[in-house]
Amino acid sequence: MPSLYERLRNDDYTGERRCWPCTAVNAAILLAACAGVARRRSRSLAAAAGLGGAAVIALRGYLVPYTPRFAPRLASRLPGEFFDHGDTAPTSPPGAPESSASLGDADDDDDEGEAGEEVLAALLDAGVVLADEQRVSLDDDFRAAWRDEMRDLRNRDDEALAAALRAAAPTGQEVDVVTPSGWLRQDDTRWFVVSDGSHDPANENWLSRPVALSEAAAVRTLADDTDLSEGRRAQAAGPLRTFLERCPACDGAVEETTEVDCCGGPGGASADAPDEVLACGDCGARLYTFE
Ligand SMILES: [Zn+2]
Repeated sequence: MPSLYERLRNDDYTGERRCWPCTAVNAAILLAACAGVARRRSRSLAAAAGLGGAAVIALRGYLVPYTPRFAPRLASRLPGEFFDHGDTAPTSPPGAPESSASLGDADDDDDEGEAGEEVLAALLDAGVVLADEQRVSLDDDFRAAWRDEMRDLRNRDDEALAAALRAAAPTGQEVDVVTPSGWLRQDDTRWFVVSDGSHDPANENWLSRPVALSEAAAVRTLADDTDLSEGRRAQAAGPLRTFLERCPACDGAVEETTEVDCCGGPGGASADAPDEVLACGDCGARLYTFE
């Protein structure tokens, strides 16, 4: 029989998974609320409220509803390393997806499974991807050329990257840079939205900056080194991300991770958070989500 404590406790946000910035934000809000009660009402009421609130934070991880959604953004704006979420929070503006889409998503006429096989076959034919009985790997020369392109694009500003992505996207696709506004804005958050210009959200694909860097660079390298068609190049950009060993954004080492933090790390806090992602060990950029 689990104890009452065990039954009340939310393992997602406590113990090893406790997110200290979220806890600190909650404790600060609780203290401020108690101070208000002490001033206007009574000290004993404030003490009781404080005790109750602290118990909830201890058991559930946080007191204020939706903390995992707002606290990373709030904490990231406060000074001090303690509050540093490592810029890993996938802070999406309203309407933005949990994880990045791909250039290849724009072309959804094909049956996905079939298209995936055709793309892999084309990459094998072109010598970009190599296969033996043991494993599938990326050609070393292609990897080096791709990394050079990523280095080159990394130093460009958003508009210039959007232009490169526009050139990499299939004909007829537009690319807009979207940054969330207001106090929730985090400095490094922007999305590259690939669309057919119809302003129909169903036809929009939102790419994070690291993914945009990776895919624009991959398409450029494919255009230089292979005779794959424009459509195939865009379709290949997403699957090629599974071969990333260096982060497009900072050149840090890419790791396979199953880490799901309260709110900051790859995987996020949503109920359907993916278990396995490729993410940068240095900057936390999420680079591929295995489904
Ligand atoms: Zn990185």
